Amino acid sequence: MSRPAVFFDRDGTLSREVGYVNHITRFEPFPFAVDAIRAVNAGNRLVVIVTNQAGVARGYFPESLIADVNGVLKSRAESSGAKIDGIYYCPHHPSAGVPPYRQDCDCRKPRPGMLHRAAQDLGIDLSRSWVVGDRLGDLELAWNVGARACLVKTGYGMGEIQYWMADWKRQPDLIAENALDAALQIIESH
Ligand SMILES: [Mg+2]
Ligand SMILES: [Zn+2]
Repeated sequence: MSRPAVFFDRDGTLSREVGYVNHITRFEPFPFAVDAIRAVNAGNRLVVIVTNQAGVARGYFPESLIADVNGVLKSRAESSGAKIDGIYYCPHHPSAGVPPYRQDCDCRKPRPGMLHRAAQDLGIDLSRSWVVGDRLGDLELAWNVGARACLVKTGYGMGEIQYWMADWKRQPDLIAENALDAALQIIESH
């Protein structure tokens, strides 16, 4: 039987938004990131991270750095008894760089490729799942697969709320202070 998941955006949601993370020293996980992951584990939902990393296509950093950075998050989680069930990234950009990274792919958020792959790999029921992120593209990703969308106030979130949200065609299903608040609310009441 397929299970619901909580898909977390990475930069701005589980870690500080610093622009392109072009070196491992620029990656700063939020102190609550591991607690957010653990809360979702305890709520019997899968934890999946989905991140656009167009800096690869743009030539700002090698694709191998993504795995290194994600490894930091993974080992932090594991050393605290939290489990990340899957991590997916899109290294592409539709117009920057050279092929194969320059391509009009199906996985760059808000396109749903990463969620479809995760659903297939891990047996996820997308209709009962959530995407938690700090930008409109994360919310649209959720809506594109029939999942629900939570906007967090970290990263770009406050700017989205203050300057742009009133103009959005659809409003977030939930607004949370941060990823941990999001996880707790999703687990408790949805
Ligand atoms: Mg983000
Ligand atoms: Zn892609």
